[in-house]
Amino acid sequence: MFGRSLMIKSDEEVALLRESGRLVSLVLAEVGRLVRPGISTLDLDRRAEEFIRDHGAAPGFKGFHGYPATLCTSVNHQVVHGIPSSKVVLQDGDIVSVDCGVILNKYHGDSAFTFQVGDVAPEVKDLLEATRASLFEGIRFATTAWRMGDLGSAIQSYCEERGYSVVRELIGHGVGTRLHEPPDVPNYGRRGVGMKLKKNMVICIEPMINMGVRDIYQGQDGWTISTRDHKPSAHFELMVVVGDKEAETISTFSYIDQILN
Ligand code: MG
Ligand code: MG
Repeated sequence: MFGRSLMIKSDEEVALLRESGRLVSLVLAEVGRLVRPGISTLDLDRRAEEFIRDHGAAPGFKGFHGYPATLCTSVNHQVVHGIPSSKVVLQDGDIVSVDCGVILNKYHGDSAFTFQVGDVAPEVKDLLEATRASLFEGIRFATTAWRMGDLGSAIQSYCEERGYSVVRELIGHGVGTRLHEPPDVPNYGRRGVGMKLKKNMVICIEPMINMGVRDIYQGQDGWTISTRDHKPSAHFELMVVVGDKEAETISTFSYIDQILN
């Protein structure tokens, strides 16, 4: 269905994806402003949907394969796809991965950030820092000089050198008028292997990194993915345009960083 030409976006499409990337970044910052002990993940979800609609866009996840919410909110040992709930109230010391999608002018934005709730244990902070840094390691390889295996290998080696493990079953993806498009963007790989990256591919790079074993399982709700050993997991995601000399990152954590600092 998607030939190479459809993986490569026109400059007009990239411009639209930039707008979607900016909006999803603003939503995550708005959510980050609210993250604190005592708030439920459903409260975060409601605010995110309101913010998205106020900006003339629609939630990108709601209804996707029947997914019921605007955000995925995955707490502590949950890796991704946690469903927001009034029963999930954030506690001091938790971490919560917030993954958000928007559709603006038919183009998807998709990004994620793992927030600290109150006072988080130093080893968990280290996991968050390493996961975020590994995403930027991957972004360095999102140029036409490299193959997908180089990008994945950069993320994997950064994390494994620090004693963490990389989830295999869930990966990054191309993004456009659909949330998930080719190419696949694994967070692991072998150098020199895989598809050559092409200018104007727009991809979501999203390492999911575990403190313990890499193994995961799906919960009985049919969505929530958790670590097999119930040790913490972190998840950061940005949208990136492949360039000749360097990648252009079209979603950003800078609004989040402004709010948290
Ligand atoms: Mg996402
Ligand atoms: Mg994604």
